[in-house]
Amino acid sequence: RAKQAGGAQYEYVSKDISASTIEANEVEVCLRQALKTDSFEVHYQPQLTLDGRLYGLEALVRSRHSVLEKIAPARYISIAEESGLIVPLGNWVLEEVCRQSRAWMDQGLPAIRIAVNVSPLQLTRFDFSAKVKDAMARYNLSPNLLELEVTESTVMPDKGHASYQISLLAQMGIRLSIDDFGTGYSSLGRLHQLPVESLKIDCSFIQHIAEYKGTYPIVQAIISLAHSLGMKVVAEGVENEEQLARLKQLECDRVQGFLFSEALSPAAATEFLWHAYDVLPAQMA
Ligand code: C2E
Ligand code: MG
Ligand code: MG
Ligand code: MG
Repeated sequence: RAKQAGGAQYEYVSKDISASTIEANEVEVCLRQALKTDSFEVHYQPQLTLDGRLYGLEALVRSRHSVLEKIAPARYISIAEESGLIVPLGNWVLEEVCRQSRAWMDQGLPAIRIAVNVSPLQLTRFDFSAKVKDAMARYNLSPNLLELEVTESTVMPDKGHASYQISLLAQMGIRLSIDDFGTGYSSLGRLHQLPVESLKIDCSFIQHIAEYKGTYPIVQAIISLAHSLGMKVVAEGVENEEQLARLKQLECDRVQGFLFSEALSPAAATEFLWHAYDVLPAQMA
């Protein structure tokens, strides 16, 4: 529409930019408020193995803030990244996940693996691995219960010594996975040098996996690449049985998506865990 408007194009575009700037600023103010008023929550999406056992949970941030609750987390996360607020927010998420993990074990639930998303800004902080170590120690959690998800652009190429933090985390026994694999610009040459346990295939590849001329060959290539590097593969965004069948054919290792469960509130996740009769022991896989 802007193109057809000819002379009005510049005005249209600049209006659009300023509107989005104002909104980002507003979101930033809301993020600060929400951090101060403790208005975030962590929800938990189950991850299953292809034989139907519960592998673990992915921690996904949510907000009770009146404005933020209406915005997609991906949007306010990216604004939190631009403004640096992802550091305090990320620290809060990590602390909350450790607290919840300990609380579940104290209630008598089996130890469960939890994956936490980590932004590039967190990972390039010199004290990140020490923060993780400290939180694990305070809640008396074993490192194999924590998995960290980073996007490929965070670690390939190595920006700001992220890979130094990663090697410290790996030495501690913490698992690392590459999130949204295939959507960034990764340098595959570095993949084998990283202590990566699993690759997570982005929803966008899974969505079209069962279609004619769809993404099946790409998913096939990613799975074969991962397996030949000794890594596991997690498919994200599995929404139907047809997609699941394709992933089984390709010997994908784990699945996550609305077909099984959306991200659950802490109360719903607790209920879910009490009824999850087949949990893969944390020592395994
Ligand atoms: P992600 O880590 O790739 O998380 C997967 C996203 O896919 C989640 O969106 C999840 O709710 C959604 N999803 C799960 N199953 C399905 C499905 O079957 N179909 C579809 N269409 N979507 C599905 P969510 O929770 O909105 O989070 C979006 C992104 O925000 C995350 O992508 C992650 O990059 C970021 N994020 C969320 N929580 C945190 C956090 O605590 N810290 C950081 N740094 N980033 C976070
Ligand atoms: Mg993730
Ligand atoms: Mg992802
Ligand atoms: Mg994502």
